[in-house]
Amino acid sequence: MQIHKLTPAPIRFARRGNKENPFPGGVGVGCWRQNQMSVKQILTKDNFSREEIITLLTCIGEERTLLFQKSAEVKEKYIGKKVWFRGLIEFSNICSKDCLYCGIRKGNKNLRRYNLSDEEILAAAKFAFDNNYGSLALQSGELESASVTGRIENLLHRIKELSGGKLGITLSVGEQEHEAYKRWFDAGAHRYLLRIEATNEDLYKKIHPRNSKHDFRRRLNCLKSLQNIGYQVGTGVMIGLPFQTNEDLANDLLFMKDFDIDMCGMGPYIEHAETPLIEYAGELLPVGERFDLTLRMIAILRIMMKDINIVAATALQAIDPIGREKAVRIGANIIMPNITPGKYRDSYKLYENKPCTYDSAEDCQSCLEARVSLADNEVVYGEWGDSKHYERRRKDQIQFTTE
Ligand code: SF4
Repeated sequence: MQIHKLTPAPIRFARRGNKENPFPGGVGVGCWRQNQMSVKQILTKDNFSREEIITLLTCIGEERTLLFQKSAEVKEKYIGKKVWFRGLIEFSNICSKDCLYCGIRKGNKNLRRYNLSDEEILAAAKFAFDNNYGSLALQSGELESASVTGRIENLLHRIKELSGGKLGITLSVGEQEHEAYKRWFDAGAHRYLLRIEATNEDLYKKIHPRNSKHDFRRRLNCLKSLQNIGYQVGTGVMIGLPFQTNEDLANDLLFMKDFDIDMCGMGPYIEHAETPLIEYAGELLPVGERFDLTLRMIAILRIMMKDINIVAATALQAIDPIGREKAVRIGANIIMPNITPGKYRDSYKLYENKPCTYDSAEDCQSCLEARVSLADNEVVYGEWGDSKHYERRRKDQIQFTTE
């Protein structure tokens, strides 16, 4: 395996914290509590500055509780105590890219590759439909070719057909040409998740190989293409990456607000042994702190973007057995039960300790339903659960163009 040697940057590392400042790192965070508004004052606002977000990312004790109370209130008011399912079909772990953090990267030769047959994908889609999930998500490694475009287009038509148009479809198959995105939109996909992973271009370059296949600008352009075509667009980042600072995380949230995203899927960075970034495992925040930082990111984003869809990422459960429930309580409203046929699930490991790889789709559903009710929320069946933000954004756009 080719190891991409990374340049250490000790000053900007996400360093371990202490009681006074649990999440150090980040430019200017050294005097993080001086001359700043209190968390209580910040939480009376709808829009936060970078410095205010950093304060929210680092607050402790009662102030941390206040943050989570506020985000839970915002979720209840704008979304309700509700969760929508996206039946997740990880239909192939074959990928042409080599992201330095990812367990299914092309360079990982210690992985059994798979590609579900069309019939297996359609059987999983039928399971989602029969169980009244409302929506499914098709996800795979990133491949670009005419045959891949045609195959996905055909699958979209067939999924629409088997569900009488009733299943909503999210795609997450990476960077593609505008034409491919358009064909899939026309074939029935209406949501697309493309995580930017890190909005600081320097950080992005540190966690990807330096070549044209891993181009930050292209990723941004893809997000713009998706928005222009009319998709509900989702993005997200990894939290607790090596080299990442609190300022980076604050900028990630400001990017999402500025880009006016409709959906967000973000989770803690969990290292994978078969990746080059494992070299920096000793420098990371403890997983518990990465977990808590992820909850704070979700809570802050819920307050900043009140009516978007936010996923309770499965990676949260890899750290804390009730991690997704905690995210649901404080702001997340989407869960993606895995309905990939069980024999393939263990081979779609972007990170270590991925949970539920041995559960059947049926077990997964009843387990999640119980977990959601433990979080004092309810699962909504038979609805697409579209982003309310998207509906509002499109109405505003139409109004603006007709004025
Ligand atoms: S993160 Fe996505 S594009 Fe990168 S190697 Fe993994 S599956 Fe491929």
